[in-house]
Amino acid sequence: MKKKVYLFTACLFSLFIVLFYLSGCSAGGQIKKVSKDLSNYKINVDIDEDNMQLFCSQDVNVVNNNLVPLGEVCFNLYASAFSEDAVILPYTAGNSGKVFPNGISYGDIVITNLKVNDKTSVYSICGEDNNALKIPLETTVEPKESVLVHIDYVVTLPECTHRLGFFGGSINLGNFFPILAIYKEGDFKVAPYYSTGDPFFSDIANFEVEVNYPKSYNLASTGQCVKSVASDDKKTDIYKALAVRDFAMFLTQNAQIETKISEKTQITYVGYEKDENIKQCLDTAVKAVTFFNKTFGKYPYATLTIVKAPFVHGGMEYPNLVIISDSITEPFDIAKVIVHEVAHQWWYGLVGNNEVTEAWLDESLAEYSTLLFFEAHPEYQMAYDELVNQATAMYTLYADIVNVVEGNIKTSMLLPVNEYNSEYEYSYMVYVKGIIMFDSLRSVIGAKKLNSCFKKYFSTYKFKIATTDDLIESFRKTAGRDIEGFFDSWLSGKTIVGEIR
Ligand SMILES: [Zn+2]
Repeated sequence: MKKKVYLFTACLFSLFIVLFYLSGCSAGGQIKKVSKDLSNYKINVDIDEDNMQLFCSQDVNVVNNNLVPLGEVCFNLYASAFSEDAVILPYTAGNSGKVFPNGISYGDIVITNLKVNDKTSVYSICGEDNNALKIPLETTVEPKESVLVHIDYVVTLPECTHRLGFFGGSINLGNFFPILAIYKEGDFKVAPYYSTGDPFFSDIANFEVEVNYPKSYNLASTGQCVKSVASDDKKTDIYKALAVRDFAMFLTQNAQIETKISEKTQITYVGYEKDENIKQCLDTAVKAVTFFNKTFGKYPYATLTIVKAPFVHGGMEYPNLVIISDSITEPFDIAKVIVHEVAHQWWYGLVGNNEVTEAWLDESLAEYSTLLFFEAHPEYQMAYDELVNQATAMYTLYADIVNVVEGNIKTSMLLPVNEYNSEYEYSYMVYVKGIIMFDSLRSVIGAKKLNSCFKKYFSTYKFKIATTDDLIESFRKTAGRDIEGFFDSWLSGKTIVGEIR
């Protein structure tokens, strides 16, 4: 996340891409190979626009990719954070006015039917804030074996400018469905939907999603549209996505769309009607994909869509899909958010991490990648040194003020998102300090070596989940020198941020 033509045509492009991949290109082959042993979601979503509800039916073939048998299965229920009785809210009191411009509005997710291997099953809604769905299994699932979980549920959308909700002519469907919780260190990793950061953590899986929606909307989605049927007032699309970390959809009325195929990826920008800068936005996205392909390693998916949407923060990343807030209006700010969110396709989408406990891993990398992009693209007139100096000045000013006023600044970059004192503190420690830290590392090991570190880390952990220790060890090996002390000092908050150059 960053703080601060028509569907038929789109589907034709997608069909071209599908055919292209079926013809056996290497990126498609790689995805196919990785997707072989993953859990599979099949979701049917019927959007009732009159009541702003989703009627969903979901089959998940849950593959136990752990080394131990599983006696239960667990899903994160992020949509429950929008219900009236939620205690931990996905927005702060300070930005609730921006989230609910038309007044407070509630949503919900209600499970109406649940079966395991075709038999009605017991389940419990648990977690710190009713944010988890736990299903005990009659028979344990051995490693590499699978169990079929069927869930029927109804999602009520709040009227709001958040990842999940509707506002104006848009419907945002981020984190709307029960998503498998990762089993690690003897437990399922579930977390409430905190207001700070992107508090999500999921593994890659395969998706087939059939969505029925009003024809007046353009639908942008993770994956590729493989079938689209229209009736008088409705459309039904089927999207397929292999080896992706999540699945999201964003719907826009009166959309204006630009598409370009670049290096085997169909890149699409979905703006509002009469937007004047759509071509520039698409151009920035295309340049970002090209640059990150070259700098870190190839984006292996066939599509990437950037959608303008009502959103309380600057932008948000999902696999194959990012949103840019319609509240961002300055061209340079829009470009910065596009590049940051596109960088997340590499850091979060492909190299996964626990975004609750180690948010710095994807945010610092996405933010520093944005600087590298501007360094390589002088036409945006934002020099690398200038951006580092800005970050340093902002950070030192912030730290000075907080120390004088409150005296309790938390300078660690390694805190879980909910342990920072404020969203500001989180942003300064994870985003701003991330820039300064990687710049400092560059002055220690050199730009060439640092780029090799990024490349190697990406190729080692793509489609996997990396931890802080994994990154440090990978960088240590690639740089060929002792850098544990460097990272420890920066991440723990001991390093005093230095002078402006
Ligand atoms: Zn971000």
